[in-house]
Amino acid sequence: MREAMKKLISLDRERGVITHIAALLGWDQETYMPESGIDERAEQLAIVENLAHEKAVNPGIGELLNRLEGEKDLSGQEKAYLRVSRREYDKETKLPAGLVSEMARQTSLSQAAWVQARKNNDFKRFAPHLATMIRLNLEKASALNPGAPPYDVLLDLYEIGSTERSIADVFAVMKRDLVEILGAIRSRPQSDDSFLRRRVSPAAQARMSQYFMGALGFDKHRGRLDTAAHPFTTTLGRDDIRITTRYIEDYFPSSVFSTIHEAGHALYEMGLEVGPDYSGTRLADAASMAVHESQSRMWENIIGRSLPFWGAHYGHIVPMAEGALEGVALEDFYKGVNRVEASLIRTEADEVSYGLHVIARFELESALIKGDLAVEDLPGAWNDTMHQTLGVEVPDDRRGCLQDIHWSMGSFGYFPSYALGNLYAAQFWTAMKAQIPSLERSIAAGDCSPALDWLREKVHREAAALLPSELVLKATGSSLDPSHFTGYLRKKYSAIYGF
Ligand code: ZN
Repeated sequence: MREAMKKLISLDRERGVITHIAALLGWDQETYMPESGIDERAEQLAIVENLAHEKAVNPGIGELLNRLEGEKDLSGQEKAYLRVSRREYDKETKLPAGLVSEMARQTSLSQAAWVQARKNNDFKRFAPHLATMIRLNLEKASALNPGAPPYDVLLDLYEIGSTERSIADVFAVMKRDLVEILGAIRSRPQSDDSFLRRRVSPAAQARMSQYFMGALGFDKHRGRLDTAAHPFTTTLGRDDIRITTRYIEDYFPSSVFSTIHEAGHALYEMGLEVGPDYSGTRLADAASMAVHESQSRMWENIIGRSLPFWGAHYGHIVPMAEGALEGVALEDFYKGVNRVEASLIRTEADEVSYGLHVIARFELESALIKGDLAVEDLPGAWNDTMHQTLGVEVPDDRRGCLQDIHWSMGSFGYFPSYALGNLYAAQFWTAMKAQIPSLERSIAAGDCSPALDWLREKVHREAAALLPSELVLKATGSSLDPSHFTGYLRKKYSAIYGF
């Protein structure tokens, strides 16, 4: 390997090490830190994150990139690495320092205002901050790519290579199908799922979580499970991936599916193997947020809420559930954990209505960024959209446009990743099933390894070398097509609800 490439990799690794130190501080803050540690912890994190930023914008990286990009006979992996490094370096260096510090300052004010506004159901209190976050995002977009439509630039930060047009085309098909499936479900009676609210102790739920981590193939030598108020996954090193869950005593499925979801993220992180030369570099990162989400949704929903999966594991879970599932048939349990009901809150939504929550946010935030929707008109527009797509009446802004933290943090263009994750997952699943005819029989026999092996080979090992669109094409043989997702939903839910 060329000296210049080795030098670039070592600068990149230093940055990576510091981001892992920041992740450790963040993980500790959410899991074990006593409350009184928060002020000092914020200071520690600010210093470490600043250090990581300094490492990332080192002009030496720019010089090495300029030199290496002109070289001939680069290997495929070298080219991919330079492409990823260039993209991230430009992203970090193109923003003026004044804008970065202004964003940091305004974001903490805006988040604090959002917390208060949500608590008191007072949109007016948050509105000026939202307007500021929109203005700063427009400045950010213009600094990053002055010629392009601002919302496209913002989307590209989360889902590389996507545009408003490309996402709108996919979402249009998805919306039409989801509305139709939801309508069909609504015309059918709901079955009783009250047994899911019987008490199960946190200790018993913890044992279930450990059981499912094992069933999925989570390597407990390279990761661990702890509890946090909001479940998350974080990477502290190549061989140290932490997941968290939470135990709700009168609704144990929450911890079961949170653990499976986060374990799905962790399995992806554990599988980002790009060989020793590039380990610890930006090439060993995920392809995108949506691809990351496709991995968690694959395990949580497509596999983890399927009948074959529960056929294998239900008999092990019943004795762990402290009597809560006594006399509950597998079939009823399966229907219970797949109940579909249009509701107000995105994070509590089922597989079918979830996409509609995301599409509503996509439509609203693109209108906000383009100036087609004024900030003060957001609550009304939100309520209209929810009525039209989900058929629900929003009683207050707390359960309406104030429910999510994202816009208060200045994250515009983030939401579509959640829905794209479902679409990628379903398309991977279709390809996986076609290539492994015995897949569902293995899952029904309690063996998830064929699914994990397929994901390792087709998705995880590609790491950040491909754009999400290239990854989907290479792994499945076709471009992103939402009909895999809606076809999967239609088949599953027509069987459950009988339509
Ligand atoms: Zn997730």
